[in-house]
Amino acid sequence: MKRNKTAKKIISFIITLAIVIALFPANMAKAACSHTFRWEVIEEETCTKNGTQVYRCSKCKALGMGANSYQAIPKGHKYQWTEVTHAGWTTPGEQQQKCTRCNAVGSKKTIPCLVDQLKSDPSYAYKNIVFATTTKVADSGSNRHGFLNDIAPDGKPYDPGYGDIPGDQTGTEYQVRDWYQATSNGKVLIAVFRYNGNPEVALKLATLSIDAANNNLIGYTMGAKRGESDPNYSTYSRDYKGKQRRWQYLKTLRSSGYNPAAIISESDQDCSAGVAANIIATGWHMGDGYLFSFAGHDGYNDTNGVTTKNITQWLGTTGRFTCYTNAGYKGVLKKYFANDSFYKIDATMLTSSQKLLPGDILLYAIIKNGKIDAGHVNVCVTVGSGYTK
Ligand SMILES: [Zn+2]
Ligand SMILES: [Zn+2]
Repeated sequence: MKRNKTAKKIISFIITLAIVIALFPANMAKAACSHTFRWEVIEEETCTKNGTQVYRCSKCKALGMGANSYQAIPKGHKYQWTEVTHAGWTTPGEQQQKCTRCNAVGSKKTIPCLVDQLKSDPSYAYKNIVFATTTKVADSGSNRHGFLNDIAPDGKPYDPGYGDIPGDQTGTEYQVRDWYQATSNGKVLIAVFRYNGNPEVALKLATLSIDAANNNLIGYTMGAKRGESDPNYSTYSRDYKGKQRRWQYLKTLRSSGYNPAAIISESDQDCSAGVAANIIATGWHMGDGYLFSFAGHDGYNDTNGVTTKNITQWLGTTGRFTCYTNAGYKGVLKKYFANDSFYKIDATMLTSSQKLLPGDILLYAIIKNGKIDAGHVNVCVTVGSGYTK
């Protein structure tokens, strides 16, 4: 009997102990949790179906608001504004909402034309030039000698266009000046090359050209040598032995992050090398590989020899430009780039600056025997008078 009682006591003790052991951790945890309640997503919403979130403790999952702890996440599209058409110089662009989840389209919005954008931007630094009343070009070489009294080692002055001191000593070797239809030595405007994509790219070419023309550390020199056969040309080059000095600007441009305003050492270029360098810099800034690799420019290496004679071919090859010219000059230019779709006949583009736009590349030439005998090139930096300013 006594033994039986003892056995019962032992059994009941074991059962109690088992229950206590079984309940102990849960009780302890519940008692110890200092609850950190937060909304937690338990089912993501979609474009067409609500999701669910719950207000609960992130540690013990206890509900924070009882039956009210569940809440729907409203369904719906995840819209993002995307550009449908770029704003042109004078034509508005268009933006449309597009769902990043299901591609559904939402509402539309007009992007003001580039002229209106720039005019209404109080911080736009180039306003006075871009909207100048007379058309301006960034022009290199109309005043070739920055330093007329610069004497070569043989005691004679340097030849025009060659070998003077790097940099723009007069401020006019590379300058922003009024548009002209012909040069003083008889070259006439024969073509206008216009970037045919986003006009902001053309605008970049214009502003880089302005910065380059206004930085008087960048001057004009065609080359280092007095004449092609000059055996001493390295002595004339002063600091750029054996290389064509006209590519010096591209080197300083490259080392200044393709920012002509940031160049702090003297360098030279000539009209076509300067335009080529600024096209390359434009490609760099605007992410246009066709421009960045202009004229065979290989990443960070030198370009091939861009000249006013072959620049038509190089511009045509990019596929990024339209060439405005007249019927007669088209015949000449097609000898350099044959693709007919590159050309648009518009003679008024050559006789007036009214329709010119920033970033237009202007080619001047003397034609002999149906070919370019001597040329010049510059970049328009203003909105022509034919547009509403
Ligand atoms: Zn908790
Ligand atoms: Zn959607």
